[in-house]
Amino acid sequence: MKILVTAGPTREAIDPVRFLSNRSSGKMGYAVAEVAAEMGHEVRLVSGPVARYEPSGVATVEQVISAADMLDAVLANFEWCDVLVMCAAVADWRPKVVADQKLKKDGAGDVMTLELERTVDILQVVGGKKKSQVLVGFAAETENVLDEARRKLVAKGLDMIVANDVSRDDAGFGVDTNAVTFVTEGAETKMPLMSKRNVAAVLVELLEL
Ligand code: C5P
Repeated sequence: MKILVTAGPTREAIDPVRFLSNRSSGKMGYAVAEVAAEMGHEVRLVSGPVARYEPSGVATVEQVISAADMLDAVLANFEWCDVLVMCAAVADWRPKVVADQKLKKDGAGDVMTLELERTVDILQVVGGKKKSQVLVGFAAETENVLDEARRKLVAKGLDMIVANDVSRDDAGFGVDTNAVTFVTEGAETKMPLMSKRNVAAVLVELLEL
């Protein structure tokens, strides 16, 4: 299979030196890319800014910064792929105005208000362009994990969503382990706590079916 994977956070600029981002380390997405390549698949990775080594066996690694950049990179590779795995923790909002110069605190008072606007939902956009591609999303939640995952599966028109509870210390952002449930329209497969590499291997096996 030709598998396109996204990983890591995005950064949304406030001014030339500041940005909004999130705690994604890229570990889950890099594990999916690397393990899928080891399992004999052709893999392209689109990565937000993370401190990670170049994954072995992955055909191309494209580095992006913002959600808009990630959308462009995913669209450029979408026709090529059989499967898109959106592991990236794409920012949901970005500053409405990006200042040209570093914002000054002097004279700005004690409270600073930042107006945010929604970023484009990459999965929604590619969903509208989908031919036979399989779309897989990740749902990082801190509450009502499975309900939220099921809602997103339908709302985003996905074939599978991987639900994970990021409120746990041993799962989700930054750590090497994850506790996920694979959710499809007809089935829910709850996995025990396992390494992100093993989560990746199970995910790829499910995609091979
Ligand atoms: O709605 P939520 O952000 O929780 O959905 C998570 C899933 O949607 C992830 O697979 C993520 O990569 C994807 N996503 C996206 N574009 C966004 C936000 C999230 O494709 N702007």
